[in-house]
Amino acid sequence: MAYTYDPKNIFAKILTGEIPNKTVLETEHTLAFRDIYPQAPVHVLVIPKGAYVCYDHFAQEASDAEILDFNRVIGEVCRMEGLEAGGYRLISNAGRDGVQEVPHLHVHILAGRPLGRMLEKA
Ligand code: AMP
Repeated sequence: MAYTYDPKNIFAKILTGEIPNKTVLETEHTLAFRDIYPQAPVHVLVIPKGAYVCYDHFAQEASDAEILDFNRVIGEVCRMEGLEAGGYRLISNAGRDGVQEVPHLHVHILAGRPLGRMLEKA
């Protein structure tokens, strides 16, 4: 499948500095920042700096260095926020059925309260 990246999406604007963010951690290839509408006491978004729409796009086209850095940042944020003991949930929504609102790959890190079952029964 061909992936079409919208360079005007909100997270692209965060990466250029057009829109401010509450940064948690920044590395060469990755940015972690607080979600503007937190769904839990800890709600951090981790995004690659490259133009990737979703996880499968990233896994197919990103360099090994980008993929390694992205995954390391997710783990590092969990440690920085002190989540190892209480636990956390990682979510990455993609496309229509995943109900992805912002078309730039992001992983949600959610924690700080019991998060319930993963999905409601339809
Ligand atoms: P998703 O539905 O997985 O695409 O999630 C997009 C997330 O981005 C939502 O949780 C929003 O609250 C969050 N969001 C949207 N705009 C901003 C922003 N300017 N800064 C931080 N988080 C944002």
